[in-house]
Amino acid sequence: MADYPFEISPMFEGERVRKEGMFVELGGPKSLGLELVRAADMDAIEDDKVTIVGPDLKDMEEGKTYPWAMIFNIGGELVEQDLESVVERRVHDFINYCQGIMHLNQRYDVWMRVSKDTAGKMDSFEPFGKAVMMLFKTELPFIEKMQVTFYTEKAEVEKQMELAKEIFKARDARTKDLHDEDVDVFYGCTLCQSFAPTNVCVVSPDRISLCGAINWFDGRAAAKVDPDGPQFEIAKGELLDAVTGEYSGVNEIAMKLSSGEFSKIKLHSFFDCPHTSCGCFEVVGFYVPEVDGIGWVDREYQGMSPNGIGFSTMAGQTGGGKQIVGFLGIGVNYFYSPKFIQADGGWNRVVWLPSNLKAKIDEAIPADLKDKIATENDATDIESLKAFLQEKKHPVVATWVAAAEEEEEEEEEEEVAVAASPMMMPAAGFQMPAMPMMSGGSGSGIKLTFKNAKITIEKMIISEKKEKK
Ligand code: SF4
Repeated sequence: MADYPFEISPMFEGERVRKEGMFVELGGPKSLGLELVRAADMDAIEDDKVTIVGPDLKDMEEGKTYPWAMIFNIGGELVEQDLESVVERRVHDFINYCQGIMHLNQRYDVWMRVSKDTAGKMDSFEPFGKAVMMLFKTELPFIEKMQVTFYTEKAEVEKQMELAKEIFKARDARTKDLHDEDVDVFYGCTLCQSFAPTNVCVVSPDRISLCGAINWFDGRAAAKVDPDGPQFEIAKGELLDAVTGEYSGVNEIAMKLSSGEFSKIKLHSFFDCPHTSCGCFEVVGFYVPEVDGIGWVDREYQGMSPNGIGFSTMAGQTGGGKQIVGFLGIGVNYFYSPKFIQADGGWNRVVWLPSNLKAKIDEAIPADLKDKIATENDATDIESLKAFLQEKKHPVVATWVAAAEEEEEEEEEEEVAVAASPMMMPAAGFQMPAMPMMSGGSGSGIKLTFKNAKITIEKMIISEKKEKK
C-alpha cells in the first residue's frame, strides 16, 4: 500500500469522521451527493484515470461542505449493465476502507467526509480515486478496466444528478412486470452482515433490497458473475402463505444466516416475522398504535415524525439486523410493489409520510388515498394526526369505530365474568405478578387486550378500575 498517502484496510470500515476532525464534507444533507457506476466499452475507458471537474481538495476551504458526484466507468468481458448496481453497492465498502474518509448512504444520498489528518497527507482526490479503483479491481476481478470522474462544481453535480436519477428510475422499473410468483429463485445478500450480523437480506421481484441498490435482476447478475460472492441464489421452496409472502426456502435461509435467531421471514408483512432491518435502509416504517396506522420516514427528512422521533433515532432502534415488530426498514422502490405490506393492509394502513417523500413516490400512492395521508404540514403530533385522519375519513378510522365497539362488548362481557370467576391470564406463558385480592365492589376488575402484539414489559402497574358514572 506504499503507493497511497493513507492506509487502506477493512478495519477502517466503522471509522467515523466527526465534525471536529473533519477537513471537508462532500454531499450529505446540506448539499448534493451522488455515486453512479456505468458499464462502458473497453475502448472508451482509460484504465485508472481520475478526472476532477471543479475544485480539487487543495482548493477547498476547511470546515466547508461541497457538492459531490462520483461517476465510475467499468469495462470487462463479463461486465454488463445488470452489474452496475451491484458494483455500485460496493463503493460504500471500498471508500470506507480508506483511512480518514467516511462514506454513508448510496445513490443520490451520498454523504462523505475527509478527515484533517488524511487531507494533510494529500492535496488532490486523485490518490483516493486510484485507491478505490485498485480495491474494485482486486475484489471484483471481472472489472478489467475502470476510470472515475469526481465532480465538485455545483452546476455539474446538479446536471449529473438529473441524469443519474433517470438511470436509477429505469433500473427500478425493470422489475415492474415481474412478480414473486413468476420466478423460482430469489436472491440474498450478506454485505450488511459486517455490521448487522443477523441481517438476512432477501431480494425478490416484488421486494427491492433495503438499501434500494439491488433489485432481483441485479442479484441475478451478481450471483452469475461471482457465485461465491455476497449475493447468492435462494431457492423459493414451497409457498406457505401468499399474502404474507412466506416461503419455505426463505425460512431456511433465515435460520441459516441468522445463526438460528430467526426461523421465519415473511416478505410482505409489517408485524408478523417481518424482514430484518440492517441499518442502511432508505426508509423506516413505524407503527402508530394511537391511530392503528403506519408512518414512514426517509433519510432526507430532517424533522420529527408525529410520534416525536426523527429518522436517525428510529433507524438506531430498527437497525442491527433484527426483526423489530413495529418498525421496518425498506428501500424506496418497495412503495411501488403491488405486494407492499399487503399482510397488514398495504396502502390503506399508511397514515403519514414526509412531504418530500410523498411527492417523490406520488405515482405509487393509490389515487383515493393521496389526500388522506398526512405529512408534516398536516400533522406534527398524534393529536393532530388523529384529527387529520378523521377529517379525511382515512380507512384506518373505520377500524377505530369497529375496535371501540368490540371493546365495549368485551367490557360488558368481562364485567359479568369478573364478578363470577377468578382472573384469567390473557395468554399462555405470560407471567403475572402475585397480587392481593381486591375487595369491595363486585364490578371491579382488570382488562388486558393484546392484539397482534409481541410485548416486553419491564414493569406492570395494576390499579383498580373506576366505576362508570
Ligand atoms: S441492504 Fe441488503 S442488498 Fe443492500 S447491501 Fe445490505 S445486505 Fe446487501
